[in-house]
Amino acid sequence: LRANFSVIQRDTGFINGLIVVLHDVTEEEKIEADRREFVSNVSHELRTPLTTMRSYLEALSDGALHDKELAPHFLNVTQNETERMIRLVNDLLKLSKMDSKDYEMNKTWVDFVSFFSSIIDRFEMAKDRNVSFRRQLPDKVIFVEIDEDKLTQVLDNIISNALKYSPEGGQITFKLKELDDKIEVSVRDQGLGIPKENIEKVFDRFYRVDKARTRRLGGTGLGLAIAKEMIAAHGGHIWARSVEGKGTAIIFTLPYDPEQKDDWS
Ligand code: ADP
Repeated sequence: LRANFSVIQRDTGFINGLIVVLHDVTEEEKIEADRREFVSNVSHELRTPLTTMRSYLEALSDGALHDKELAPHFLNVTQNETERMIRLVNDLLKLSKMDSKDYEMNKTWVDFVSFFSSIIDRFEMAKDRNVSFRRQLPDKVIFVEIDEDKLTQVLDNIISNALKYSPEGGQITFKLKELDDKIEVSVRDQGLGIPKENIEKVFDRFYRVDKARTRRLGGTGLGLAIAKEMIAAHGGHIWARSVEGKGTAIIFTLPYDPEQKDDWS
């Protein structure tokens, strides 16, 4: 705590008051430390792909360019690193927009059951791994007021993680539950899980349980941080449940009014 004192003095010279303003310096210092850590993380995240690209480009110009086997491989590496940097910068821009509140919520009433289903369909069509999908969705419509683009982003991030961390032959379960005043959405996989002590940290920016491994899988470390901001902007909550070696579930809620009547009737 930092204290600022102001003395209230009359013309006569008598002191008849004292104002003490207390500042929570620890909070300010924490914000400053977080900011410094964030900048250092961003620099580091960009430096890694850039130095990789530099060495591959150097090798290419030192002769590998004329090697029929090496050249396509080296070019492929630089392409992948470029893609990852683009993803990283796009994710950073999304977060910075959310931070500065410089975004609009384009909320519309959406049947969440068909919205969720169509996103699952898209992943099911595109998946190139032996992972099966199981859906536990209510057999009815559930209208929720959401920003579709933002919720699509949230589900994309969660589902691509579930696929990324699923074992060969694993199953992903998609569930949607209607509770009193909210809906609960969960995506559960049978992957390696997250150690208990890290379970809350996975929503922090740049936090990864295993840095080298997830970088190799192409992650930016920002997916769940973005999801958290977007769910908060909807007035919901997001958390993870996991048993190491057994799997992970990412669960979020969205406010929902079951009494909501169709205005068109
Ligand atoms: P990344 O781009 O690295 O996947 P995220 O913010 O999406 O970043 O996730 C942060 C970290 O949380 C991941 O690096 C990974 O360690 C862990 N994680 C997220 N989802 C899962 C999952 N389904 N199973 C296991 N670990 C996960």
